[in-house]
Amino acid sequence: MSNVAPEAVVALAIALALLLRWMFRSRPPRVVAAEPAGWRERIDTLVPQAALVPDERKDRYRNAVGRFLREKRFVGCNGLEVTDDMRIAVAGLACLLLLRDGARLFPMVRAVLLYPDRFYVRHEEPDEFGLVSDEPVEQLGESWEGDRVILSWADVQAALDGDEVNVVLHEFAHQLDDENPETEGAPAMRDYARWSEIMDREFKRLQRHRRPPVLDPYGAESPGEFFGVVTEAFFQRGPALARHHAELYALLRDYYGVETAHRALWPEHAGDDR
Ligand SMILES: [Zn+2]
Repeated sequence: MSNVAPEAVVALAIALALLLRWMFRSRPPRVVAAEPAGWRERIDTLVPQAALVPDERKDRYRNAVGRFLREKRFVGCNGLEVTDDMRIAVAGLACLLLLRDGARLFPMVRAVLLYPDRFYVRHEEPDEFGLVSDEPVEQLGESWEGDRVILSWADVQAALDGDEVNVVLHEFAHQLDDENPETEGAPAMRDYARWSEIMDREFKRLQRHRRPPVLDPYGAESPGEFFGVVTEAFFQRGPALARHHAELYALLRDYYGVETAHRALWPEHAGDDR
């Protein structure tokens, strides 16, 4: 027979319940991703474009990459096993867009979905003629407003090897664009007048060109795609962009806070800086 008062048992039970509630409430958010060991040493080898980051912005760049690796969840799709190198490569490319003062770490992106190769999607949205097609469309990347970026790893790899298309920069440029919902094709910035003047002119120029020398003709689809395409050219073909589109180059240099015209990153682009 216990001589403990029933009031004491009740008090103990309440205290225990409060303690459990406090423990569950104060638990830190689940870590969905972690920094792969040694990523700082590996990033320059994995991401040739990291060589463009000027010395005075290297700390900022690495801080952003580290946070990206800790905070953004990676999901392998269609059987792809996401490796540390894949995560470092995607984070290393995406964070090239965050070298400017006041850049935020893609606040809307919670997850990066990686497919082994191009993937097929059906979109329910009507096209420009109001028609909804149920034909699957081949995609190398997608940026969803508000939560995810989807990428074909084969195309990420091609971008690391010097391809003119850089799906990571393209899709994350869409994220910058979406952070500023008032305008399509313009991220948030101070000097919007200069931006729209140069971007409009260059967009129309691309629409008239049948065979543009540097910019992917896909950029003529819309101001949003144009921003994605010029961002790719800025980092993948900096010397050529500066030569053929000097004002556009200077605009992007001032926005992204990095020079890309001084060197070709891949031997096959060496003629670009002539
Ligand atoms: Zn796009």
